[in-house]
Amino acid sequence: MQFSDFGLDSALMSTIEHMGFSEPTQIQQQAIPAAMAGHDLIASSKTGSGKTLAFIIPALQRLNKNRALSKRDPRVVILTPTRELAKQVFSQLRLFTSNTQYKAVLILGGENFNDQVKVLQKEPEFIVATPGRLADHLTQGHFHLNGLELLILDEADRMLDLGFSKELTQINNAADHRKRQTLLFSATLDHAQVNDFAKELLKKPKRVAIESAHTEHEDITKRFYLADNLTQKEALLQHFLVTEKSQQIIIFTATRSDTERLAKLLTEQDLNAVALSGELNQGQRNQIMDSFSKGQHKILVTTDLASRGLDLINVSHVINFDMPKHTEEFVHRIGRTGRAGTKGDAISLVGPNDWLSFKNVEAFLQQKIAFTKVEGIKVKFKGLKPKKPKAIKAKDNVVQNKKPVANKPRKVIKKTFLDIEDAGAMKIIKRKKLTPDQIEDATKKEQD
Ligand code: AMP
Repeated sequence: MQFSDFGLDSALMSTIEHMGFSEPTQIQQQAIPAAMAGHDLIASSKTGSGKTLAFIIPALQRLNKNRALSKRDPRVVILTPTRELAKQVFSQLRLFTSNTQYKAVLILGGENFNDQVKVLQKEPEFIVATPGRLADHLTQGHFHLNGLELLILDEADRMLDLGFSKELTQINNAADHRKRQTLLFSATLDHAQVNDFAKELLKKPKRVAIESAHTEHEDITKRFYLADNLTQKEALLQHFLVTEKSQQIIIFTATRSDTERLAKLLTEQDLNAVALSGELNQGQRNQIMDSFSKGQHKILVTTDLASRGLDLINVSHVINFDMPKHTEEFVHRIGRTGRAGTKGDAISLVGPNDWLSFKNVEAFLQQKIAFTKVEGIKVKFKGLKPKKPKAIKAKDNVVQNKKPVANKPRKVIKKTFLDIEDAGAMKIIKRKKLTPDQIEDATKKEQD
């Protein structure tokens, strides 16, 4: 199938050709005709699959073909969970709108509110935004959604996970008219809240499920390494930085402080690394993202802040220095490599603190993961045994009229996970119940 088969107007076709794309990706093949036919959509597809164009193309086609419902209101609103993803979507949209009469604006949290008011007064056709800030402007009447034709929710699952359901409902209600079309994209469709939300927002939606987040991304090779502790993780990292044939690398850590510490450590070793963490202001974040995108740094050390939205062909490696707390974040992190048909490597380090997250990722990917070893780095950690559920004693279920006994401070015995004994394997010595005669005998013996 070719893009030319969709019957798109010529201006749109020439931009697509200019971008160098001839064949639509799988999600584009299914989503574009369904959206062009006016259906609401609920669509899932893996990260990096081309889903942004799967909604941008039908949106532009709709605007080109139909008269606006209102001259003042935005015609298309695209909502994304993070500022980084919003910028990514906006930059793709700009490729299509820059030669047209359409105005597209980006409205993000953390940026100057009054500047955004001025931008909204220019009555743009397209708004790309994060939901919190857009809802604020809506509440204050800086724009209206009576003429909205297309509401697009990108990574709806993540928006709901981040707690934006109130804002999404507000935006939905402000634009709830007969002619509105809604396209909902989500990494996964087996997300209870997404399904409930879809029922509220979508009218008779077509379901497009190409590949779920569980599906293997064949361009990304995943490797997992065990590590005893932080020092060993650092030794493994050094090893990869020396031995892997790499272009740009993104390293994900669990905390901001680790992000900065690691970036400093790498810089001291003359490696061109930069840290991106949440405590930087938006301007600083933009600057770091920009310079990394331009290839001015080889290594970006970050938290989950950059796990979505970065679309760089040159990222050959993603290294999970710590495993992500939220399982789906794993798919988004590793999706920063292997973009648009290139090959990528995803390396994950698993220490005792990562074990639970690792097991969740293993269950999520629905596969048994084997660990790779590095010669010369001896790792004792072999994983944690699952805890056996504590047996509930019958008397625990009986509510007794006893006064609560103050908890005695427990003696802390330092044990490594390897020392932990399996309580289930311990012998339980049961005392026999004695008869009154036996008790008398025993007492006599003791007195003797
Ligand atoms: P996305 O999943 O929207 O983040 O897109 C991932 C990457 O695929 C981006 O770099 C797009 O420019 C690229 N892309 C989108 N559509 C196509 C296509 N039909 N053929 C090749 N690459 C594409």
